Amino acid sequence: MKMPEPHNNKEEHYHLFSFSSGDTALKYNGEITCTEPGNILEVLKRNEIFRELMDKVEGREVVIVNQKGAIVEHFPCCLIKKDETLVIYTLPKTETPAIDGKRELEQGKEVEQGKEVEQGKEVEQGKEVEQGKEVEQGKELEQQKSTFVTFCVEAKGGKYMTGKEILKKKKHKKYSPLCIYAKHGDTVKSALESDGRFSDIVFEKTCILHEVPQNRTHIVMSTVVNSAKDRKFQIAKMEQTRKKASATTKSNISDTGFKSEGDTTQPSQSNPNSTSEEGPSVENMTQERQEIQANKKQKYIPMPDSREILQILHNQFKGLLDHMKSRYPQEKSESEVIELMREEFGKKSEGFTEVYRLTELAEVTTSVCKVEHELIEGTGFLLFDNFILTNGHLFKDEGVLVGKTLSLPTTVTFNFDTPHGSGQWKVNVKPEVVALQYGVDRWKRQVDYAILEMEIDEKFPPGLLQKYGPVPQTGGIYIVGHPDGGFKKMDYTTIIEVEQRNAAGSKHLGENQSSILLIKESIGGNELDKEFYEQIMQGKPDVLTYNTFCFNGASGSPVINPSHCQVINGIPVYGCQVIAMHTGGFSYKCKETHETQSVIEYAIPLRTILENVLVYLVETKNVQTLLKFTDVAMENPHLFELIARLIIHMVPTGKPEYTDISKRIWDTISQSGKRDEMLQLICKLN
Ligand SMILES: [Zn+2]
Repeated sequence: MKMPEPHNNKEEHYHLFSFSSGDTALKYNGEITCTEPGNILEVLKRNEIFRELMDKVEGREVVIVNQKGAIVEHFPCCLIKKDETLVIYTLPKTETPAIDGKRELEQGKEVEQGKEVEQGKEVEQGKEVEQGKEVEQGKELEQQKSTFVTFCVEAKGGKYMTGKEILKKKKHKKYSPLCIYAKHGDTVKSALESDGRFSDIVFEKTCILHEVPQNRTHIVMSTVVNSAKDRKFQIAKMEQTRKKASATTKSNISDTGFKSEGDTTQPSQSNPNSTSEEGPSVENMTQERQEIQANKKQKYIPMPDSREILQILHNQFKGLLDHMKSRYPQEKSESEVIELMREEFGKKSEGFTEVYRLTELAEVTTSVCKVEHELIEGTGFLLFDNFILTNGHLFKDEGVLVGKTLSLPTTVTFNFDTPHGSGQWKVNVKPEVVALQYGVDRWKRQVDYAILEMEIDEKFPPGLLQKYGPVPQTGGIYIVGHPDGGFKKMDYTTIIEVEQRNAAGSKHLGENQSSILLIKESIGGNELDKEFYEQIMQGKPDVLTYNTFCFNGASGSPVINPSHCQVINGIPVYGCQVIAMHTGGFSYKCKETHETQSVIEYAIPLRTILENVLVYLVETKNVQTLLKFTDVAMENPHLFELIARLIIHMVPTGKPEYTDISKRIWDTISQSGKRDEMLQLICKLN
């Protein structure tokens, strides 16, 4: 099974746009003919003038602004309008030069790779234009575009949020508004989360989006993005209802904006007319309904007696509220109960959008397995062929490993998805470990992996190596594993950027005041842990950080980037990329609940692991496994680059035994018909 060629539809993707530097001192501008869908930064980096500009502003942060507002790096190129000019601003980077330096290095690599791709394509591009395919291509592009929705959010907070920093990076405030994109059917909340630029306060449960400039309507976070399309909002907060709880029930109800699931908008409280004795004005309500109906492309039929029905609903609501109040053992004010109800309903609609992501992720999750021996339980996943990748620290205890041989029988269990365990299968792994490294690698990066080989030699699903992708700087990620050795679970969380790590750590400490001593003891008790924790907080080791409930036993879980955009049959779909392996966290036992809690968790980028695996396989002369890896690598541009780098690494050593290994790698490359492509890439990288 091979991954579909990601860019086999390039002929159908064709559009032109320009960019210019927004920094007055830098007079760079260029035109881009995009024939291969990707995120905007990727596409820009294919252009030489842009790369020159990037060299010029090295070390500075880049902000890309389109007609509507500032866009994220992962903005799909198909949403850039024909003949649109993107303005590129740069500003000094904030903190943590150490990791930023590394990132740049990696970005630099990508640029070079981009060059490669571009060169190969230029000829083809010319052809396409000549053949006058533009009309057809326009159609394809329209199709790609139609799966997305964009809307704008101002960088400054609105009502009850004016003094708050709604962006993670303060300095970005001047590039207002932000243009947000999302897939049809996503919720506004998940769109803002995946965007990655908003700070945590935006996701507090009373936050809403006020439409600007009208400021009459607002939408809640669980609204499906389709209704936000092409609108502009300000992040605002519901009015604090607590103080007003003793006021008349009716006005209180309309104040709080309690909603049923289908309801997307409601009159703003700021409009005094809308909170009359009868509740929100009927006129306003019908206007909103009309809007909703229009979105559904249905004919709107005005509801007769809507004023009276509203009144009846309001009267019933009081009863419901009393009933709900009686369900809570402690005295709760009306506003608190409403809040709890909103939370319940809010969660429900969030769960709704998660489903399609689950379906997408299903294939990936089947490759995840539980890894165990007598002393420990962890997680692993099928990498390729019959090889399992997991954490090296699962085998660090004394007596588990003698040399490179496991002295304890170790098994992997697939399909351990239900508590009842039907359909699962358990396989022994061979005692000889294929590769194992734990600690710091030759490039002084944190590394912690083991590759095990399953004892049976059957036909397995393709494994996750083919889905390898680079670590994004921001956005949502999934972690799939077996926390506490239980059945398979999946957690959705967001990357904590380097700049945010300290804030996230402090936030956790602040929320767990009673456990502070325990936390300090747990982390500080072990010198190595303490040092590593401090390094992570300073952004030094090249790891990915986040908060997840998956900690104990989930070591070795794949970390998945769900928002990577892939094009299948001309239609962009979110593909999944496996970007890292969950490795650990800084855990302690909570004083009150006695449950294990964790301050922050981290994963090691898959790139770090794979680079080490390749060198390890060469050094142990494991040619067979190396060739199987190479075979998979031919189908994935990121892995293709890793093989190129391996060849470059092997040549100057001049070791005769390497000559034979090199030769056999080249044979595999030639068999896949990519010899010329590889040669070109090596020349570029060297
Ligand atoms: Zn494009």
